[in-house]
Amino acid sequence: MAQSLDSTAMRQHNRTNVFRYIRDCAPTSRIEISAALELNKATVSSLVDELLSEQYIREIGFGESRGGRKPVILELNPQAAYSIGIDIQITHASAVLSNLKGQVVVHRNTSLNLLEAANVQQTLLDYIENTVQEMNEFVKESPHGIVGIGIALPGMVNHHTGFVHYLPNLEVERWDFAKELESRTHIPALVDNDANCGALAQYRASSVKDLVFINAGIGIGVGIVAHGQIYRGGKGIAGEFGHSTISAMGLQCHCGNYGCWELYASERALARYLKELGVNPKNLELDKDFVQRAVKQADAGDSAYLQAFKQLAMYLGIGIVNVINGLNPGRVFLGGNLAIAGDYLMQDVKQSIAFRTVAVNRSTEVSLSSPDSIVLGAANLVMSKLVFAEP
Ligand SMILES: [Zn+2]
Repeated sequence: MAQSLDSTAMRQHNRTNVFRYIRDCAPTSRIEISAALELNKATVSSLVDELLSEQYIREIGFGESRGGRKPVILELNPQAAYSIGIDIQITHASAVLSNLKGQVVVHRNTSLNLLEAANVQQTLLDYIENTVQEMNEFVKESPHGIVGIGIALPGMVNHHTGFVHYLPNLEVERWDFAKELESRTHIPALVDNDANCGALAQYRASSVKDLVFINAGIGIGVGIVAHGQIYRGGKGIAGEFGHSTISAMGLQCHCGNYGCWELYASERALARYLKELGVNPKNLELDKDFVQRAVKQADAGDSAYLQAFKQLAMYLGIGIVNVINGLNPGRVFLGGNLAIAGDYLMQDVKQSIAFRTVAVNRSTEVSLSSPDSIVLGAANLVMSKLVFAEP
């Protein structure tokens, strides 16, 4: 019995490795897989046949012969399975439908102002359920259909159970979110912090094994990839640098602390600086286009906006220096809504890194991240875990 269990586990292990190899190295062939993974040809053939019969992969013609028969070329079947990625931000949401190859088939941006929602939980569940229904229309021919929904949330969540501890800007606490969502959609739901999803997407795109993703929007969260994996910490909420103290006698934060970094380097901070500089509060509504409007004003030479961005950039830079000195990442990605204002922030952030970090860290590279990183990371999370059995 023990032996048969072992051989089942071994076969599963080999199957996963073959499947991942085809994902990462296609176009490829049985002979190439056998050589790369050091598996005998019969084992590879049997596993490839299994993946072919399940339609996860497909044959796409013949490659060059190296003496003997021409090898049959294999690749993933993009339509075999789909994942939905959803990025919930405070003022807006975006969703993608991604195929097995990670290509985006549908992309939707929605204005979803949760600050004004009468019931945040219901609004979120309704939005996701509607999105899933809409995406379902695109996958009718697929053998495995939608395998899961990945949801990036702005706050503290237990990734393993889908339980929401606390979404600070939305005052949502202790919510069995994944369970409620699954009972509505009947599709597995994976939940993660938004900055973690951004970090995962940047890791997949860059292959930098130690990196941080700064999600700067209404608040600030940091996603950490260490040795190629999301670093979650003891209770699963690592990366809450937004609530590290940057001003000892500073403003009070909703987290209970005073002088938190995100009070000085977020969209809320930008709005406050602008108000202090005399901008009419009517123009400072925190909706999804707030940063875009601010950039437009700065582009037009409005001195209040230029000054506010300068002040924000100083605090953003100081906080990033703290993250760099603490974690020594190989690279820093600045994402979230404030990345839209990159032209007004990056130079000062780079200067802070050059002048304020310890000497070894001064060459740390910082780049702007695509606005879609988080939603792509959420879709990727599903494929990675539920299809390719990654930890
Ligand atoms: Zn705080």
